[in-house]
Amino acid sequence: MRHRIAVIGGGPAGLTFARVLHRHDHRVTVLERDPGPDARPPGGTLDLHEGLGQLALAKAGLLAEFQALSRPEGQAMRILDTDGTVLRDWQPRPGDRANPEIDRGQLRDLLLGPLDVQWGRSVTQVVPQTRDGVLVHFADGRQETFDLVIGADGAWSRVRPAISSATPHYTGVTSVETSLDDIDTRHPDLARLIGDGSVAVYGVNRGLVAQRNSGGHVKVYAQFRVPLDWHTDLDLAEVEAVRSSLLALFDGWAAPVLDLLRHGTAFVHRPLYVLPVSHTWAHVPGVTLLGDAAHLMPPLGVGANLAMLEGAELAESIAAAPGPGDLDEAVRAFEEQMWARAGRWARITTAGLERLVSPDPAEALALFDEVQPS
Ligand SMILES: Cc1cc2nc3c(=O)[nH]c(=O)nc-3n(C[C@H](O)[C@H](O)[C@H](O)COP(=O)(O)OP(=O)(O)OC[C@H]3O[C@@H](n4cnc5c(N)ncnc54)[C@H](O)[C@@H]3O)c2cc1C
Repeated sequence: MRHRIAVIGGGPAGLTFARVLHRHDHRVTVLERDPGPDARPPGGTLDLHEGLGQLALAKAGLLAEFQALSRPEGQAMRILDTDGTVLRDWQPRPGDRANPEIDRGQLRDLLLGPLDVQWGRSVTQVVPQTRDGVLVHFADGRQETFDLVIGADGAWSRVRPAISSATPHYTGVTSVETSLDDIDTRHPDLARLIGDGSVAVYGVNRGLVAQRNSGGHVKVYAQFRVPLDWHTDLDLAEVEAVRSSLLALFDGWAAPVLDLLRHGTAFVHRPLYVLPVSHTWAHVPGVTLLGDAAHLMPPLGVGANLAMLEGAELAESIAAAPGPGDLDEAVRAFEEQMWARAGRWARITTAGLERLVSPDPAEALALFDEVQPS
């Protein structure tokens, strides 16, 4: 008999897991809270690394399609001083496909392919080890049981409490996101400033990053070190009030840099939370976690990559398990591998955030010099 396997969450982790399992002719139920694929804006661009996200796509048989969709030119990176001076200007070499960018919506559609996702299925609780298997409770009051439940439901996972008491904590850094459309026609000066990839500016305890997505869309991230309650006197739903508050925070920076905030449309408030760096748990038969649900870390370009590779690896391990009794052993071995790799990256990205949004902006530049190919 084939196992009843459910993955909770249709993000990069859950969809990659389901797609690779599907490739191995295994059935999997994908349960996603959103009412449909376009229920909310998919978010900004992602760079997929050769040994991580791209490896996962290869395991899903989707690497060629990714290469056709992705933007290697998006690897370009420019660093400015707060007065607008260009400090660094890295351009990808011809044929460089180490970290090409792809819009999240494009990646989601690529992974969705033939998958039959159950949309609008919001999970509220998971109870392991009941008589019939793992019990999943839904917001509409329904319940279902499975042999294996994979929590790929992100930072505020509803699956995680079934196996771990860890909860995310605030990093001390908040990000406020805005976007600009039709940049090449509406804001040609800003289009030149951003180039084909990203531009970043770092000051004392703050930074501003703009990233080109496809179709002339740009996402701007203002990041700053503040207490969690920094906005008590600010109505975050008031676009102009948030804009003024950000312009005050970045006061004195070069006018073209501040134009990124002046022309931004809506603002999305994202305090950055993380799980403990070495988050592990005592193995619980029938339940595991993938991606942000397992190891939420600062957004420094690896979270989705790890989530996808883990999804692909767990699916391959399950597909290779010789008999029904081997499923749990496959999950247990996968967890050990995931914890070791995620722990390494959590340490790197935690240290990275400290240097990027730090009292000494020279630290941010030094960090880029260490990681960019010379
Ligand atoms: C601003 C920003 C920029 C980033 N840039 C990059 C980057 O360039 N490269 C990179 O690798 N990473 C990046 N990351 C990190 C990356 O976005 C995450 O690590 C990645 O999305 C994690 O994937 P996931 O599938 O684990 O979780 P998510 O993407 O959070 O997906 C979880 C899914 O589960 C669903 N869900 C949640 N709760 C429930 C529930 N109760 N029931 C059912 N479904 C549920 C959600 O709707 C969602 O679809 C960035 C993050 C941020 C915030």
